Amino acid sequence: MKNLSLIQLFEQVKSRNPYETEFHHAVEEVLNSLEPLFEVEPKWLKSGVLERIVEPERLIHFRVSWVDDGGIVRVNRGFRVQFNSALGPYKGGLRFHPSVRPSIIKFLGFEQCFKNALTGLPMGGGKGGSDFDPKGKSDGEIMRFCQAFMSELYRHIGSDIDVPAGDMGVGAREIGYLYGMYKKLSNVHAQGVLTGKSINYGGSLVRTQATGYGLVYFVENMLKDKNEDFKGKRVIVSGSGNVSIYAIEKAQELGALVVACSDSNGTIVDERGLDLALIKEIKEIKRERIQRYCDVHPNAIYHADSSALYDVACDIALPCATQGEIQIEQAQQLFKNGCRFVAEGANMPSSLEAIQFFLSNDVYFGPAKAANAGGVATSGLEMSQNSLRLNWTFEEVDQRLHAIMDQIYVQAKQTAIAYKDPNNLVMGSNIASFKRLAEAMLAQGVL
Ligand code: NDP
Repeated sequence: MKNLSLIQLFEQVKSRNPYETEFHHAVEEVLNSLEPLFEVEPKWLKSGVLERIVEPERLIHFRVSWVDDGGIVRVNRGFRVQFNSALGPYKGGLRFHPSVRPSIIKFLGFEQCFKNALTGLPMGGGKGGSDFDPKGKSDGEIMRFCQAFMSELYRHIGSDIDVPAGDMGVGAREIGYLYGMYKKLSNVHAQGVLTGKSINYGGSLVRTQATGYGLVYFVENMLKDKNEDFKGKRVIVSGSGNVSIYAIEKAQELGALVVACSDSNGTIVDERGLDLALIKEIKEIKRERIQRYCDVHPNAIYHADSSALYDVACDIALPCATQGEIQIEQAQQLFKNGCRFVAEGANMPSSLEAIQFFLSNDVYFGPAKAANAGGVATSGLEMSQNSLRLNWTFEEVDQRLHAIMDQIYVQAKQTAIAYKDPNNLVMGSNIASFKRLAEAMLAQGVL
């Protein structure tokens, strides 16, 4: 960062939000890549928009008390950040993971504002969750926790106020329990209050697949720009959760050889191509560890280390697990092994140093805000269907998702070209989304 006003603003963000390193990272990345815009349009620096954009409109922090199967009272922390409502009701997922704390929720909420702006849909940015760890909990415990969480959250959300969805640790089962409790407390069957619902009470087809499929549609565009496609490409995907599974599915459908994936304990490598039906059974149905894959396929190799994934040679790497998984060492390792495309299914999987390394070494890089926007875009489509009281077919939603991902790529690419750094999709997507958001904020006055 060279601009003095931006440096001062970033220093202020750090001192007002001490120790929130993930949030600092997210703000730094955006401010950094907006510099070329401010050189051409300095009005933004004096508009007061930047000072407001880095400050959440509201941060809700609450106690969640529940009783486990042994009759012991447990206490977790719940959060919801309502970051920016200039473009529409706050919209963003809920994450249940022991690492959840204000810095994580704020970085996710901040990124969400820009991601949602890129989709072109009327959605503001928000995010929430809890430090509750779903691993090893019984179904009854998950239900009681979700009910306790919603017993506070319900007073802060609504279809025209704030519309949460799933994220890590929150899938269709959890959304069902959360929705049931919302309905009971509010006495309203307001389907538009949560997205990611099951199809039989207001969910949308394709929502489950959307982030993974959307990521692959985005990468298709990246490949097309280099006159390439997925056929025969070696792909590695981190994680084996919702985003990973459907990224693997679509990449395989388009002819890629997906050779490795992981979970938080380790990595599996299957040179013949991953058996996705088995991964779904292990992770979606049995909720077991990925290591079980080798019980059925003894030729596959298991490494008891999740970062071993990045030692596997590939053409395309899709980090789809969690923040911070690609540090400079993993970026260098990917490059050394011939990887030429990296696109983020997870939020903030790559460090700033790793991103800089990709950009300066001609590894074509698709940043999270653009590449994983398919999930929230399809949530937006779920909200539209709830308002219309209509259900679109799988093909109809998938086509709309595909069109949105194409349009996000075009915006990021054309903006990168306009600001004379044509392969820098980080800059392209940050500038394009900032302009939409900032113009809406300016039009609505100082709030
Ligand atoms: P899930 O909870 O469904 O899956 C997360 C996966 O990541 C699990 O397989 C988990 O393994 C694995 N994982 C967690 N930590 C690590 C680690 N350190 N190393 C390797 N694997 C790890 O979450 P989602 O798939 O929904 O979300 C994944 C990422 O995508 C998150 O960053 C999320 O914010 C982002 N995202 C999700 C969207 C969605 O629609 N779901 C939308 C946009 C972004 P284990 O089973 O061991 O915990």
